[in-house]
Amino acid sequence: PETHKIPDLSRINICVRKRPLLMKEANKGDFDIISCTNPAILVHKCKTKVDGITKYIENSAFEFDNTFSEYESSESLYFSSIQPQIDFLFDGGIVTCFAYGQTGAGKTFTMENVQKLVITDFFAGAEIMKEETGALYTFTVTYYEIYNGKVFDLFDKHKEKKVQESRSKQIKIPGLKEVQAQTAEEMTHLIEYGLSERKTKSTACNDTSSRSHAIGTIHIKRVDSNNRVISDSGKLLLVDLAGSEKAHDSQSNNKSRRTEGAEINTSLLSLKECIRAMESDKYHIPFRRSKLTMVLRDSFMGGLSKSRVIMIACISPNSSSTEHTINTLRYADRLKSS
Ligand code: ADP
Ligand code: MG
Repeated sequence: PETHKIPDLSRINICVRKRPLLMKEANKGDFDIISCTNPAILVHKCKTKVDGITKYIENSAFEFDNTFSEYESSESLYFSSIQPQIDFLFDGGIVTCFAYGQTGAGKTFTMENVQKLVITDFFAGAEIMKEETGALYTFTVTYYEIYNGKVFDLFDKHKEKKVQESRSKQIKIPGLKEVQAQTAEEMTHLIEYGLSERKTKSTACNDTSSRSHAIGTIHIKRVDSNNRVISDSGKLLLVDLAGSEKAHDSQSNNKSRRTEGAEINTSLLSLKECIRAMESDKYHIPFRRSKLTMVLRDSFMGGLSKSRVIMIACISPNSSSTEHTINTLRYADRLKSS
């Protein structure tokens, strides 16, 4: 197993995860075109067919904070990216972890595995705080999807909830179900419930999960001995983004696909702009350009001392995905400070 450095925690952390070649891909004659030697990624030159036309792809090399090969576990990724932020979260920090990439590249797989590890560490962290400082904590969870610019509550039968901006410029989603989890088991159940709601809806409605962004948020709260909330501490947001290739549907002949695609395109571009603005310490963050970045306002505001971002770019290794893979790597590369 490779060792991964823990990147400068006060910066935006950009990593890439390559998933293994799947049996069904190998059976179609697809082959692996990615070499991953942390922190580098190399896309080997190859021939690929795009809409029936053969394209020649040149070698391209990238470097990120960390890259994870197909041999590495979700634990390894978690230990070098999210776990080092646990203290910051208990101190009131906001950490937002994004899974970006083409449909089938491993976003949901990664997020689901990471969620399990987070739960264990959050409850262990609360135990330690209780012993060391006497402070008591509780956790609440919200889980929603953004589809076509609308928010749907996964904890409330997919009801649409409106996003509002208050006079003090805070972004609120009134009526969004926020559920308290007193034990690690309760939190696991909640998250599994949210995930299953997302999948059920998706099967019924033509694979909407690849066209929606899912945002699971775990809020850490200080409580008194009667379990009454005294103050809000930090929060961790796990964002499973819509399939990045769906942004190209903005050129589709099908009208509803085109609208969905345009929405996805705008949200992924605004996300890039917001992260870049954050990285360069710009005062103005263009978060109003999409519903996604709007609901994530807190994730970008307050500078890197208050909010931190982890980007996990997920890539498929197979030759027929080369173009999407390169697009994903370019997107992640553009987030790096120059
Ligand atoms: P996405 O959410 O990006 O569309 P998924 O997470 O659903 O992609 O992954 C697609 C398939 O690849 C699933 O069958 C998943 O189990 C498998 N997969 C993804 N990442 C890995 C990995 N790191 N190791 C093993 N299998 C993986
Ligand atoms: Mg998915």
